[in-house]
Parts: sequence; structure tokens; C-alpha cells
Amino acid sequence: MLSNEMRQRLIDIAVQARRWAYAPYSNYFVGAALLTTSGKIYDGVNIENAAYPDGICAERVAIFKAVSEGEREFSAIAVVTQNGGSPCGSCRQVLAEFGLETLVYIADAEGNLLQELTVSDLLPGAFTPKSLG
Ligand SMILES: [Zn+2]
Repeated sequence: MLSNEMRQRLIDIAVQARRWAYAPYSNYFVGAALLTTSGKIYDGVNIENAAYPDGICAERVAIFKAVSEGEREFSAIAVVTQNGGSPCGSCRQVLAEFGLETLVYIADAEGNLLQELTVSDLLPGAFTPKSLG
């Protein structure tokens, strides 16, 4: 559970990051902001490509930025879109890798919180590192 201030701060950072989304094909701009348990925040945007499958979502950009700097434990992620879109299946799976209890805040472009869930809510029965035995 984050304080209301931290939750809104995370959402606001995702709103700001969204400006840098590169989405010339879908025009669906996404911003994300990931809070680590160490207190750092990594933002991300969706980045599309003329070769469509080579694009990547904002959530995974934020997660990969954090992981590439040694972070492994996350408290929460805020995801901001025009209409409160939910993370895709691939992002749910990548989030699950690092913890089912990570909070997920879904907000609109004005920073209004629309949904508050956990990764476990988004991906019940997830295949995780434990699944490998
Ligand atoms: Zn995604």
C-alpha cells in the first residue's frame, strides 16, 4: 500500500513520460512509471516500429530499464493511457516474473486513477520462476 501522495506522484510521472511515447502507427500513447522497493522510479513509453512486431510497451520499457540497472523488486507501476487501457498479456507476464503483489495503477491521461489492482489480479495462475521448480 502506497501513500496517496506516492501513488499520485507515480501516476503524474507516467503522465509526463507519456509525452515521449513513439506511437506513429497506433496513435495510442502510453506512459508508465515503476517504483522499486529501493525507492527509485523508472519511467517508460511505448515505442513502435515500422516493422510492427518490433515495438514494445511502456510497461516493459520501464521494467527493463530498472532491471538493467540492478533492480529486481518493485512496489508499484502506474500505467497511463488516453482511456485507461490495461497492460497487455506480455507485460502482465513480465511483471509476474518480479512479483505477483506489485500494485498496478491504471490511470487516464489527466492522471485520474481508474483502477488499482495487483499483478496477481491481472494474471491469475501465472507462470513464474517458482513454476520451474
Ligand atoms: Zn504490454
